Amino acid sequence: MMIDLKDLSYQELTEYLVKIGEPKFRAKQIFTWLHRGCESFDEMTNLSKETRKKLAEECFVSTLKIREKYVSKLDKTTKYLFELPDGNCIESVVMYYKHGVTICISSQIGCRMGCNFCASTIGGLYRNLTPGEILNQIIFAQKDIGERISNIVMMGIGEPLDNYDNVIKFLRNVNDPNGLNIGYRHISLSTCGIVPKIYELAKENMQITLSVSLHAPNNEIRNSIMPVNKKYPVEELIKACKDYIKTTTRRISFEYSLISGVNDSEKEAEELARLLKGMLAHVNLIPVNKIEEREYKKGNKEQIRRFCNRLNELGINATVRRELGSDIQASCGQLRKKLL
Ligand code: SAH
Repeated sequence: MMIDLKDLSYQELTEYLVKIGEPKFRAKQIFTWLHRGCESFDEMTNLSKETRKKLAEECFVSTLKIREKYVSKLDKTTKYLFELPDGNCIESVVMYYKHGVTICISSQIGCRMGCNFCASTIGGLYRNLTPGEILNQIIFAQKDIGERISNIVMMGIGEPLDNYDNVIKFLRNVNDPNGLNIGYRHISLSTCGIVPKIYELAKENMQITLSVSLHAPNNEIRNSIMPVNKKYPVEELIKACKDYIKTTTRRISFEYSLISGVNDSEKEAEELARLLKGMLAHVNLIPVNKIEEREYKKGNKEQIRRFCNRLNELGINATVRRELGSDIQASCGQLRKKLL
């Protein structure tokens, strides 16, 4: 098997180079080239021809092709359909905020979590993305927009904690000062609630923001929309979140998609407030986005406001997430894989 150099950490790259008889300092040169978006060894002009030839024997530089690109007329949000080396496609979204350019990236081709309001899970999981493939979304989007991407949200296609090792490796690489050097505090990772992995993540000692897709204040509703809840019920999830907050001292962000008539009544707001009372947490309310295959509807603005206000009255920090890229199907839950 050929090695994708972007799957290696800086340390591993150094060890590999020493093993093939190259000096250690080459690691820095090569790592920098890779993360700057270079697409072949021939572009690495400060390496000798022999070194480049030697590298090409066992290694390759993975790339992503932009198959399609959609730019929102409303807010400049840009959705990429990226083609992977095996021909499959994933989506990534670039958003322009006052505090910097943010990219929403995918962690898997498809998803096997089955949340029934989300398009990414239709058709199930095809395969995990490699650390290099996750990273390439940022490298090639940044190259295309010609502007530094400063924030990452792992909220695209896939369940990041279902591809744990590759995601952790990617996070360490994207944070590396010789690479894109994106601070952990500028990275959010969203999970549907794979409890054992939340405990594991807490111990990684990364200052990332954990987002948890809660969407319901009790098991009855959560079971009906998120199959993962049958394995890891609400009590266990909240216990893991409390452990995460205690270990990392980081605030957790709870995502709650408001689905009209399903989870958006005053009763549910009150139940949610009781559940989260006293936690270092923030609730991100997302009016549910339309996907073709499902009947779910968002409530009207007034209803959403009321839910948010009720939480605030009860001492829970909550805001309504601004919707970006709605004219190009780039909003939460609307991204999907495309198979060859
Ligand atoms: N698998 C991870 C990462 C995906 S993040 C997770 O579940 O957290 C995408 C976010 O959008 C999740 O919070 C997801 O629950 C939410 N989402 C999915 N479909 C949606 C829809 N139709 N409308 C609004 N939010 C949706």
